[in-house]
Amino acid sequence: MAQTTVAHDALQVLDARLNLPLTTYLEACTHCGLCAEACHLYRADPVAKHIPCFKADTVRKVYQRYHTPTGRFLPWLLGLSDLDDETLDDWVEPVFQCTMCRRCSIECPLGIDNAAMIATARAILTSAGKAPPTLMEHGRKSCEAGSPLGLTREQFLDRMEWIEEELQEELDDDDYEVPIDQEGADILFIPASIELMKYPQSIQACCRIFQQAGASWTLSSTCYDVTNFGVFLGDSQISRTIATRDIEEAERLGVHTVVTSECGHAYRALRWEAPDWLQESLPFEVKNILELADEWVAEGRLRLDPSANPEPVTYHDPCNITRNGGVVEEPRRLLSACTEEFREMTPNRERNWCCGGGGGFHSMPEYDDVRLASGEMKAKQVESTGATVLATACANCHLQLSDLSDHYELGVETVSVTELMANALVE
Ligand code: SF4
Ligand code: SF4
Repeated sequence: MAQTTVAHDALQVLDARLNLPLTTYLEACTHCGLCAEACHLYRADPVAKHIPCFKADTVRKVYQRYHTPTGRFLPWLLGLSDLDDETLDDWVEPVFQCTMCRRCSIECPLGIDNAAMIATARAILTSAGKAPPTLMEHGRKSCEAGSPLGLTREQFLDRMEWIEEELQEELDDDDYEVPIDQEGADILFIPASIELMKYPQSIQACCRIFQQAGASWTLSSTCYDVTNFGVFLGDSQISRTIATRDIEEAERLGVHTVVTSECGHAYRALRWEAPDWLQESLPFEVKNILELADEWVAEGRLRLDPSANPEPVTYHDPCNITRNGGVVEEPRRLLSACTEEFREMTPNRERNWCCGGGGGFHSMPEYDDVRLASGEMKAKQVESTGATVLATACANCHLQLSDLSDHYELGVETVSVTELMANALVE
């Protein structure tokens, strides 16, 4: 039976990603529905499009139709039809109204990673030109301009000059310089565009931490944005292009460690996914700033005074730092050391509720209502701690948590962990 052009193109994308784990996920789902209750979108609005396995079924039906004997020869027996343009249009909402947080994967008794199939569905939609326009635009700008928000080298340098002046004042040292393009430094620190544009105080805090630890480090004036929109689009080519830029700059500068700022997906992408995209191990270590800061506190290179932060503080685990990144205890040790009263949310660590802002959600204004509604579980979690300060370790989560604080009238101050740390540093 002849394939439609739409099906042919989709199969090319699917086949390039089909490996043993993905095939197992596509084959094994029993449609028990247990994953539904694990999803913050479904909990906020219990409709079919928010059930994780329903989202994954988009790709599963293509697989069944074109890769199984029954689907190929007796599709009507399985209720399968040819993939066409209208079907792809129907995928867009369920597939892009997802934060790729993988909480549903943790709760599935069979260990099925719905997010891996949702990423494949995104790849198919992106390839067909049907991804949300703002995400496509951010992906294009990331590749062409080096930043999804179009931040130029001059704007980056301006921003760093401003941070440098702030730190000169804070340190009472007119000679303090933020190191940029320092060949031979041990560490390349790459921030994220949201921090550069919206939360420069978090970058300033990181600079202060590097300075206090006496680190050999540098920023780069050509590779200054670690954000990787290829991940949100499911587009391996964009992901590879952005990761390759980071890797080549790290090699040029000769660093042995690349440190990502408080940006969840960027850490996950560079630390865990880039070696797969590039089919080679990276010639340097990748660490999140909190991993490094935690090591430095343990070594005595950083000392913290908890009395500098007396208010009750709670911590939102960014999905891509904790569940998908493995950085779990480091922020807890740091917060316990730099605040007087650290209160855990329940549930926490790998079972923490997603804030609702990931997966590119914050860059799709057409879904703003859904995004804010999906933060209901998170808002309840925050409220029940009674904390007045809400710390996190991801600029994207920071944005969403600030929105949730306004929308649900939580009355909390949202900050980054590094800001609390910098505030508590002891000379
Ligand atoms: S993904 Fe797992 S939890 Fe969800 S329906 Fe399938 S088997 Fe059940
Ligand atoms: S990855 Fe997260 S947002 Fe997406 S379906 Fe699973 S639980 Fe829901």
